[in-house]
Amino acid sequence: MDEFGIIARYFAPLATAPGAFGLTDDAATIPARPGFDLVVTTDQVAAGTDFFAEDPASTVAQKALRVNLSDLAAKGARPEYYLLNLALPRPAREEWLAEFTRGLSEDQRQFGISLLGGDTSATEGPLSISITAMGFVPAGRMVTRSGAKLGDAVYVTGTIGDSAGGLALLKGEGKGLSEMDRTYLVDRYRVPQPPVAFGNGLSDIAHAGVDVSDGLIADLGHLALASGVGIVVDAERVPLSPALRRLWGADTLARAVAAGDDYQTAFTAPLGLSGPFTRIGRVQAGEGVNLRVNGEEVVVPQPGYRHF
Ligand code: ADP
Ligand code: MG
Repeated sequence: MDEFGIIARYFAPLATAPGAFGLTDDAATIPARPGFDLVVTTDQVAAGTDFFAEDPASTVAQKALRVNLSDLAAKGARPEYYLLNLALPRPAREEWLAEFTRGLSEDQRQFGISLLGGDTSATEGPLSISITAMGFVPAGRMVTRSGAKLGDAVYVTGTIGDSAGGLALLKGEGKGLSEMDRTYLVDRYRVPQPPVAFGNGLSDIAHAGVDVSDGLIADLGHLALASGVGIVVDAERVPLSPALRRLWGADTLARAVAAGDDYQTAFTAPLGLSGPFTRIGRVQAGEGVNLRVNGEEVVVPQPGYRHF
């Protein structure tokens, strides 16, 4: 099957928005929406770096999409469209494409989004997927990294480090862990759980926000730098799952806050909020991120995942 057959058979059914023209045109349209800003983000994932080539194609698709939805959630945007650029090793396998597009289709339904277009090419290298996701926020209300205010509390959604725990398991750690914990953590690695519905209302409460994808401390460091403030994180408040604690024991916190691939949202907002998130620290004068362990502030070097 050539790329035109692939597009017509596997991708056109996902192009549900009228502006996608069923993937039969050169480009797509997004109707202008007065009173809103279009928020755009792109992220690429590659076999061997962000997932394993032998991972189920449906979870590869969902990871590629969700790492982008995570950025939109952290910016307070409601996702609506995405573009899909695929570099596929030859030969294109139809069972793989069917499973890949099934994963996308499930997520489109869950998150209420449509495929808008893309590009399909063959590669001599590893499978690589680049997605550009788009969503809307009320005009001028995107939650930026730079809006943190002195005295704000720092909050984070979900739990931290689970994905890195899943990756550690896939690399051979934790032989004694129960099947249930193993499944939970590996699922978190393969299929991120960004707070998409929560992100919808983020601009109503947050002063600043950041996607937690390179490591909690590193990403809070980006927010602190952009806002010109310091952040203190209370070590005992960082939300860690029971499964991760069973895997890493006494090392859990240190490894979790430096590990990547969380795809949760960290944000600063007034004290005293409650919701599907945990208060982990506060904004103060100064710079960088300090971790408070047993009442003492420890300066953490900028850890986190770096490609180069
Ligand atoms: P071009 O010649 O400009 O590269 P194509 O023939 O590759 O255009 O694309 C034809 C149509 O199919 C376009 O609407 C394009 O957006 C869509 N398309 C191609 N590849 C993909 C893909 N992987 N996912 C979604 N849409 C795609
Ligand atoms: Mg093309």
